[in-house]
Amino acid sequence: MIHKSLIIIFLFLLFIFPSSFAQNKDSLMIRQIYSEILTHGQAYPQLEYLCKKIGARLSGSPQAAAAVEYTRYLMDTMKLDRVFLQPVMVPHWVRGQKEVGKILNSKQIGEQIVNVCALGNSVGTGKGGITAKVLEVKNFEELKNLGKGKVNGKIVFFNRPMDATKFNTFEAYGGASDQRGAGPSEAAKLGAIGVVVRSLASEIDDFPHTGSTRYQFVRQIPAVAISTKGAELLSSLLKNDTTLLFHFETHCQMFPDILSYNVIGEIKGSEKPEEIIVVGGHLDSWDLAEGAHDDGAGCMQAIEVLRAFKALNIKPKRTIRAVMFMNEENGLRGGLEYAKIALENNEKHIAAIESDRGGFTPREFTTEAAKEILQKMQVWTPLFEPYGINAIKQGGGGADISPLRNQNTVLIGYVPDSQRYFDLHHTAQDTFDKVNKRELNLGAGAMAALVYLLSENGL
Ligand SMILES: [Zn+2]
Repeated sequence: MIHKSLIIIFLFLLFIFPSSFAQNKDSLMIRQIYSEILTHGQAYPQLEYLCKKIGARLSGSPQAAAAVEYTRYLMDTMKLDRVFLQPVMVPHWVRGQKEVGKILNSKQIGEQIVNVCALGNSVGTGKGGITAKVLEVKNFEELKNLGKGKVNGKIVFFNRPMDATKFNTFEAYGGASDQRGAGPSEAAKLGAIGVVVRSLASEIDDFPHTGSTRYQFVRQIPAVAISTKGAELLSSLLKNDTTLLFHFETHCQMFPDILSYNVIGEIKGSEKPEEIIVVGGHLDSWDLAEGAHDDGAGCMQAIEVLRAFKALNIKPKRTIRAVMFMNEENGLRGGLEYAKIALENNEKHIAAIESDRGGFTPREFTTEAAKEILQKMQVWTPLFEPYGINAIKQGGGGADISPLRNQNTVLIGYVPDSQRYFDLHHTAQDTFDKVNKRELNLGAGAMAALVYLLSENGL
């Protein structure tokens, strides 16, 4: 009798609250996904291999080619429905011999070596380097106000720090990165012969942060990033001494474009295979370190999503693709090519998730989706709360997936804690030992759980 009445109550509840039962089913599956990844996850040892055995993976380098082979091999062994390479021509920039940076003729300290590194894509000074007086500015307006008369023949020193008052360090980064991206060309327009940019860093330390610069249609002048410690020193000396000189020597060079690949693994959808969900990161990195957080972590998390689905024998309703994009750092060619081919093939990408903010503790997801879609996704927030993800909110997706924007794809960014990222970003410090296994796995769990919900429910 008891059994019968329980069944009646159960059916009654199911009738009244069908969605809560669906959520309960989802929450059980999400628990299984996290448990699988936290106990059997492979992202960490695979990231170790990528960082330690392959290393820095700048586009066009032999290591980038080795990373293509490695990630293809990993996915080949996973019994996926399809693993393939997507050819893409990428820029081939090479740093060359280590850079030299020096303050000269300082009334206070005479001569002092400072840590600099060439900005990605920049031209080199060649042997002998360049030496000139320095003009410090905080922004382009200040530079323009100085005018050609003052800027001509000088080295321009862009020294606007990242805003430490911003909680979100990516916002602080975004608020200062124009100096690196456009600074060299803005200075060249007024006749400068070289540019020194304060490293985009949260801390004052001795590590220069590289990153790409984008030349406009003006003379290409050499450009370096200076460590924040070096920037503070140079700035303090310039206050009472405008005649000091700065010297730097770089040997970087841009070679003709070279063939590389996006690496793609796929599990076909069981009910709606034509609807594709992408999860990915970028396989290339800067050349100064191992690209552990940026973005080996994101790539290995994306592969882990597929591994967990296979291990748990989940047959997703929609197609899931893990994509290792090539050349995010100095060209975005992989992301552009991926979107171009998707359009040509009439593929329907309903959502794309990018992990390119480091392998730190998960915090939230951000999406560029319209309000109604965002609200639909926000219904899932309670499913993530047990795992430390407390929000799905409006915000950026990611660079590599951004070219899918005009194909009706919902772009989603995986957002871990951002407080330590810009201590390491684009420096010699971005090494495997800075990645915590559990944090990395929790990120993979969050991404896999979201992929599962997207694949079950669509958008
Ligand atoms: Zn990155």
